[in-house]
Amino acid sequence: MNSPEIAANPPWSDWALDNLQLGLIVLDGQSRVVFANKWFLRHAEMAFDQMAQKKLDEVFPQLVRSHFMLFLTQALASGFPALLSQTLHPAPFPLYLPSAQRSQDKVLRQSIRIIPMGFQATRMADQRYTMIQISDVTNSVMRERLLKAQADKLHDMANLDTLTGLGNRRLLDDKLAQELRAADRLGTSVAAVMFDIDYFKQFNDLYGHLKGDDVLRSVGAVLREICRRPRDVAARFGGEELVVILPETDQAGAMQLAHEVLRRVRDLQIAHAGSDCAQVLTLSAGVAVSAPHQVLTAESLLNLADIALYRAKDAGRNQVCGTAPVFSEHVDQPQGA
Ligand code: GH3
Ligand code: MG
Ligand code: MG
Repeated sequence: MNSPEIAANPPWSDWALDNLQLGLIVLDGQSRVVFANKWFLRHAEMAFDQMAQKKLDEVFPQLVRSHFMLFLTQALASGFPALLSQTLHPAPFPLYLPSAQRSQDKVLRQSIRIIPMGFQATRMADQRYTMIQISDVTNSVMRERLLKAQADKLHDMANLDTLTGLGNRRLLDDKLAQELRAADRLGTSVAAVMFDIDYFKQFNDLYGHLKGDDVLRSVGAVLREICRRPRDVAARFGGEELVVILPETDQAGAMQLAHEVLRRVRDLQIAHAGSDCAQVLTLSAGVAVSAPHQVLTAESLLNLADIALYRAKDAGRNQVCGTAPVFSEHVDQPQGA
């Protein structure tokens, strides 16, 4: 049997509402605020008088034309509850964490349910009320972010070359296989250009390995700048050999890009006393293309680019060669060469 105090005098509902660790707002049939619990007022840093009988977007101007208002309108029209994604809409209301809990920023992340209440639920026949329930999901949002940052870091560690910041061999192999499969499906071409620094061993011998590392970084930066299309990939193939993959690019386009890279690297004017190419650091490049409807394997495409590169070396370095004699071209020698 219930005790008489509990049955006759229920302060428990007020007590429970005041101590609830989530926010509650009740709107009347005209979407005006008729109730907000202590949790909500505390985190909004407001008094109830500032909200009473006002619409939510009057009280919080940032809600005007927001997804929250759209969801509210839909929930009211349909009579069905709505849940706002905490990932897509992490902070619709300007609610603040207590200062003791603030780390990077002070905004409280929210998961919001909009619950239209039928006449029966409220036992009030005059109008339909709506309850808005706001949970604090700051910790889980922050944990998700941390996990995502760690996953991104692991992905970078597995796929990026630490010296140049370009893709590594694994990324090159994966992306090239992926692009060749797409080219096969769509009947498009894929070009691969292999670059190799001329007389790099002598450069290291003359200027030291650390200076050599700087040069590799600078050449990597040039490749990154020039390969700007979203699906272009620039990667370190090994040692001082760098490769770019250019989807939907024909031989002429790839030759042009390779010439541009060689020109930009010469323009860096990195002194190289051991080079017979105007005493500045230069590159050689080999271009190979997997033609539409004659798609090559990744290995054959890279082999062809390698053969073309060695033709460029044999022909005197500081130049770009294609896979067939017709594509062999010399670049303009720098002034004074
Ligand atoms: P070539 O003009 O024929 O290309 O002559 P090369 O001296 O550049 O010969 P090769 O392409 O075989 O160069 C290999 C050299 O690249 C050996 C090594 O000293 C240098 N190298 C490879 N990886 C690195 C690296 O990570 N850092 C530095 N500083 N040097 C590297
Ligand atoms: Mg080499
Ligand atoms: Mg070399």
